[in-house]
Amino acid sequence: MLVLPSLLNGWRRTPVSGIERELDLARLAILITNLPLLYGVICVHIIVTAYSFSSVAPRALVYGLPLAFILFALFRAVHFMRLRQSIPVDGRVAHDMLRIVQFIAVGFGTLGTAWMVELYLYGDSALRSQLVFSVVITNMICSYILGQLPRVALTLAGISMPGFLLLLVLTGGPEAPVIAINLGLVGLFLAYIVMVSARDFERMVAAKLHAVELAEENRLLANTDSLTGLPNRREFFERLECAIREEGAKGGQEMGGQEMGGLVMGVIDLDGFKPINDLYGHAIGDCVLRECAARLEIFSSGATTIARLGGDEFAIFMRGAFEEADVLRFGEQVCAALRAPLRFADIHAGVSASIGFARYPQDAMDGHHLYERADYALYFGKQNHRGAAVLFSSEHESKMLLNARIEQALRKADFEQELTIRFQPLVHVATQRIVAFEALARWASPEIGDVNPDDFIPVAESGELIHAITRTALRKALRVARSWPRDIKLSFNISIRDLVSQRALTQIMALIAGSGFDPARLDIEVTETALVADFERAAAAIAQLKTMGVNISLDDFGAGHSSLAYIHRLPLDMIKIDRSFVQEMHVNSIARDIVRSMIGLCANLNLDCVTEGVETQEQFDLLRGFGCTFVQGFLFGRPVPEDEVPGVIEQYRSACGGKALSA
Ligand code: C2E
Ligand code: CA
Ligand code: CA
Repeated sequence: MLVLPSLLNGWRRTPVSGIERELDLARLAILITNLPLLYGVICVHIIVTAYSFSSVAPRALVYGLPLAFILFALFRAVHFMRLRQSIPVDGRVAHDMLRIVQFIAVGFGTLGTAWMVELYLYGDSALRSQLVFSVVITNMICSYILGQLPRVALTLAGISMPGFLLLLVLTGGPEAPVIAINLGLVGLFLAYIVMVSARDFERMVAAKLHAVELAEENRLLANTDSLTGLPNRREFFERLECAIREEGAKGGQEMGGQEMGGLVMGVIDLDGFKPINDLYGHAIGDCVLRECAARLEIFSSGATTIARLGGDEFAIFMRGAFEEADVLRFGEQVCAALRAPLRFADIHAGVSASIGFARYPQDAMDGHHLYERADYALYFGKQNHRGAAVLFSSEHESKMLLNARIEQALRKADFEQELTIRFQPLVHVATQRIVAFEALARWASPEIGDVNPDDFIPVAESGELIHAITRTALRKALRVARSWPRDIKLSFNISIRDLVSQRALTQIMALIAGSGFDPARLDIEVTETALVADFERAAAAIAQLKTMGVNISLDDFGAGHSSLAYIHRLPLDMIKIDRSFVQEMHVNSIARDIVRSMIGLCANLNLDCVTEGVETQEQFDLLRGFGCTFVQGFLFGRPVPEDEVPGVIEQYRSACGGKALSA
């Protein structure tokens, strides 16, 4: 019989599995509901029996014991009615309570049966039949009420029924054995029904538990990043908002006190992850992300949550009120952990990380704005000192406000009117002649005034506005450059956003084709960070541009964490070494070595090389010594308006390089 093992399970001391625990809890919940009713039925049975035997049995038997039984039954019934207000949810508690009920059932059943047997002996045949009948009926009702609790039901029936039936056979008339057999069969059938219903009940509880487990599994899947096993973006923001609410409530309670609730959130971005992905493939990229997640998880604790927001972006939040120095120290520890070298089979790779932090309540009052500020601090950090931790500050706040103003003004701008182009010369070191001018956009906003391209270009790049700026600037620059001598080229910057948008690229190409300007005289400058951001698309766009005959320069080389792989795989014509290196050359021997090796690298790859940002004769002398081919910088000319370009050309022609090159 399948039902027997499940029945025996019920006698185990400690719940062993989730299902045992669930069963005990479900059984207890039913018991709490049904036991008062059961005690009620037993009380009625006791009263009726005592009353029936009151004239034949001793007083102690019809008053004393029943009263004790009834008082005890009432006490238990009230106890269980009280429990209805707070049904236990602890499996251990439920298990122990069920055992107590079990023991009481045995005791109560044994004492009750003994009492009834005593009474039975005092009764005549009518009273005896009534008692047997009453015992059977009471047992049937109890079994029905305790259907899901076979232990209790069968204990009660097992104690009273067989004894009574035996008594009936021994003391009854000739018809007694037949009645006893009939009643016995009814009892067995009843026991079977109890066991079947108990088994069905167990199955139902198991199915319910399974459904709950499935739902939990689904919830976990929906909230976990499948690659790293960390909480995902959705889960992170849910937890963050919840923590903010709790910290807010704490702060509210402690108003006037010194200690305020607070938390700090950080956005972590890996520097150098994309080149690894491009170079070694996504499988290695995934390994890197998993390894980084594992390193970050070391910092995870009850008060600290780490998540992967997507791509190579991770986030963290810690509860507590932190000083700036604490935040930065923690950030440095995280950066250091991520900087450690990575090894997968025979691949040795490395990433670094930058973190932007923002604090609640100082910097923002909700998760969305906290993220925005931490992200801004990260962006700011990446511009200035990569691989470090930056905490959102009032300087960032005013920069964000300015950006918001710039964005508003850009939306209303009439670029045809407000955008002008300055031209800065690129000079050939050996011949000391101008070989090109770089077109640099200037924006005079009627609302804000003159805005630096370093301020408005990034804002325009965060949306679609950059395309209109590029088109207007390119049209104007091409129109001006058409009138220059044929040996002077035009260098023009295009944005990553232009490069990865097929529509924008097609428009740019149409504009060049329709300008009448020889594409061979046009250098398109593409920043190195653009390539790092989306190499495949950038490479495809560059290939398209090359089909027109334009030249491609890699701008800001050295600033964007790129690798030799980029240079090798792209049809580049020229490399522009970022001005930050040149400007540190005279104070920093490492910068000097980097510039020297970058110049050497270009020579080896047969690429033209421009060093940007040359401001002093000293810098120029060094560069010339390194074998640099072209230079650009304030030493050779600041960006000038179009009408001054002929004068600059003339000045170089007549002075053959001018005073700057006289060394
Ligand atoms: P960039 O492409 O690196 O442009 C060179 C910047 O260096 C220019 O700044 C130029 O004025 C500055 N510069 C040149 N020589 C020196 C020097 O000797 N010392 C110093 N300190 N700076 C020097 P500008 O015009 O402010 O442009 C800043 C950046 O804005 C550019 O950097 C470029 O990335 C971007 N930009 C400018 N015009 C455009 C444009 O039309 N389209 C796009 N997409 N970006 C543009
Ligand atoms: Ca440039
Ligand atoms: Ca540059």
